[in-house]
Amino acid sequence: MNEPIIILDGLTKQYDQLVAVDHLHLTIYRGEIFGLLGPNGAGKSTTILMLLGLTEPTSGKVRVCGIDPVTHPVEVKRKVGYLPDNVRFYDDLTGLENLIYTGQLNRMTKKQAREKALGLLSRVGLSGAAHQKAGTYSRGMTQRLGLADVLMKDPEVIIMDEPTVGIDPTGAKEFLELILKLSKEDSITVLLSSHYLLQVQEICDRIGLFVKGKLIAVGDISSLSRELFANEPFIIEATVQYPLSAYADSNRVVDLQQLFAKIDGVKQVVVENERVKIFAARDIAPQVARTIVHAGLDLISLSRREHGLEDIYQRYFEKETEIAV
Ligand code: ADP
Ligand code: MG
Repeated sequence: MNEPIIILDGLTKQYDQLVAVDHLHLTIYRGEIFGLLGPNGAGKSTTILMLLGLTEPTSGKVRVCGIDPVTHPVEVKRKVGYLPDNVRFYDDLTGLENLIYTGQLNRMTKKQAREKALGLLSRVGLSGAAHQKAGTYSRGMTQRLGLADVLMKDPEVIIMDEPTVGIDPTGAKEFLELILKLSKEDSITVLLSSHYLLQVQEICDRIGLFVKGKLIAVGDISSLSRELFANEPFIIEATVQYPLSAYADSNRVVDLQQLFAKIDGVKQVVVENERVKIFAARDIAPQVARTIVHAGLDLISLSRREHGLEDIYQRYFEKETEIAV
């Protein structure tokens, strides 16, 4: 457990004046699905190229499965399946023929390669298109073929650059679920980059937020949320109703604003008719419920939500913008 598979230590890539990747420190463990998340130009692809030995770091250290891709790129490629953002196949060969070709490049006999390819085409849901030319595949089908292609060599690690770009939302969701399923079945470590935070969130064990060459936060969604919003409010929404008897006696109509402001930990109360939104430093849903009932009001609904990935993402990016200005 917790065996490091990818280690980045101060990894830096500079193009002339531009620091595309800036002292990146990151460890990814065996069996993990890690999402490198960030907007276009963040440095995701550059990082991936350095992991594969396809571009050389300016400084810093990389290890993939214990191997240095700078000095041993071929050994790394043997263990790592790479699905680039613009994966292409031989258009005039069928999906099956493309996979057989890959298998043969990986020192399989044609028979072995064919058997393996047929199995993989079935696993990625392309059996029906096995004998169709790859040039006729949709973007989603091409990505599935890409996944089958990287699996031909039984990789320890799969690295995918923007795997859902150009696929419709439903297709993207299905493709990500397929990645999740295959990686868990075969215990493969996955590193994927994306600028689609909500999609990626669902399948990643951890994510790293990457902006302007810097990794600004790493963790699972809830720990990121805790870290970032430690002093920020929980949001509790309540709908209340005054019992009919309250209207007969105006003294009994309660000032909702004052009622909730008294609860310890409340930062702000917003009242809109009988709907109340309470921003609090801690989870005070039970106190809110009790307060409503004690005040003689009817509690119609109560919901509590924590900040989600969208909030996290926006917050980090806002921060980064402020720094940049
Ligand atoms: P991402 O994949 O997150 O969109 P990239 O790694 O492609 O980001 O790019 C990071 C930054 O490095 C960008 O500003 C990009 O323009 C720059 N860059 C990428 N490749 C090169 C290159 N070969 N020469 C010069 N600048 C580059
Ligand atoms: Mg990119």
